[in-house]
Amino acid sequence: MRHRIAVVGSGPAGLAFARVLHRHGYPVTVLERDPAPDARPPGGTLDLHEGLGQLALDKAGLLAEFQALSRPEGQAMRILDTDGTVLRDWRPRPDDRANPEIDRGRLRDLLLGPLDVQWGRGVTQAVPGTGDGVLVHFADGRQETFDLVVGADGAWSRIRPAVSSVTPHYTGVTLVETSLDDVDTRHPGLARLIGDGSLAVYGVNRALVAQRNSGGHVKVYAQFRAPLDRPTNPDLDVEAVRSGLLALFDGWAPPVLDLLRHGTAFARRPLYVLPVSHTWTHVPGVTLLGDAAHLMPPLGAGANLAMLEGAELAESIATGTEDLDETVRAFEERMWARAGRWAKITAAGLERLVSPDPAEALALFDQVQPS
Ligand SMILES: Cc1cc2nc3c(=O)[nH]c(=O)nc-3n(C[C@H](O)[C@H](O)[C@H](O)COP(=O)(O)OP(=O)(O)OC[C@H]3O[C@@H](n4cnc5c(N)ncnc54)[C@H](O)[C@@H]3O)c2cc1C
Repeated sequence: MRHRIAVVGSGPAGLAFARVLHRHGYPVTVLERDPAPDARPPGGTLDLHEGLGQLALDKAGLLAEFQALSRPEGQAMRILDTDGTVLRDWRPRPDDRANPEIDRGRLRDLLLGPLDVQWGRGVTQAVPGTGDGVLVHFADGRQETFDLVVGADGAWSRIRPAVSSVTPHYTGVTLVETSLDDVDTRHPGLARLIGDGSLAVYGVNRALVAQRNSGGHVKVYAQFRAPLDRPTNPDLDVEAVRSGLLALFDGWAPPVLDLLRHGTAFARRPLYVLPVSHTWTHVPGVTLLGDAAHLMPPLGAGANLAMLEGAELAESIATGTEDLDETVRAFEERMWARAGRWAKITAAGLERLVSPDPAEALALFDQVQPS
């Protein structure tokens, strides 16, 4: 029997879910608040792990296309001391496909493929238990009913309140993002410093990370501990933010500070998380995937988990013999166990990467990086 299924959100979780259902010929309604795929800048690069994001792409039949689009050389990682001394300079072997990088925009387009997303359809809430299914309310006042509503609508999910009263809390760490364009021609010295992948510099309670995207685009992330009392993004004065950051990172090697001096625009992102091991009492007809279920620090797991969860739930629905509600219930148990493990790892990781003792960051790198 084919159920009426809607997924709210067309991020990595929602698209992986919809694409795997589509592969199995199972109909799904994809509801997205953004008016178009390019309505917002897509964000930086993502590394997709073999057993997580890449497994999801395999379930969607997209692994070969991913391999053609991704940048295995982007796995390279260089760590500098704040005085510019190179502490680690790790490069992948040419055949290393463990965690290749891909631009988010490319990943989105790969997953979108033939999907018929309903753009500009912001959801305000989902109300289960209406008799005929789950009632979805839209920002434009309309309503629709589905048998299953999957909340893949990110950190500030409007579906989450249907299953859980928990909301994200601030980690104490803020990230300010900036970027450099055409780095190879405009800033060749910085291009060499960053290399093919990422550059990271760890100081006391702060860090600077630069990541190469395709086309000579570089994203720079300044991370530091700060109270939640700064202006919101629309009010940001670019030069004031730049000079504030240069003061915060004062004394660091001049080429490292050039990452901030040449940054073109700034976005402030306080890092919020859901509690580690967030679970809920199962509610028939509604579930969550990805950040909506387990928002965690951005340490290379969130999109990977989101995609694998989407792909696994879709596969179970399309190929399973169990009743839909039993399928969702079993999926939730698996998701909670795996996400709980990653939430612990990433929470501890954030503490070590933005730490009073910069040696902690280096020790963490040595622990996780293959030699
Ligand atoms: C700086 C940074 C770097 C990161 N790097 C990595 C990395 O290298 N590897 C990794 O695995 N993870 C990384 N992450 C984490 C990753 O970005 C997230 O975990 C991932 O995007 C979660 O996917 P999602 O689909 O659950 O949610 P999202 O990507 O947040 O997508 C949610 C979608 O839902 C839509 N939406 C929201 N509300 C509504 C609504 N009410 N109605 C309809 N649609 C709605 C949004 O417009 C959006 O399209 C990083 C995060 C940050 C901030």
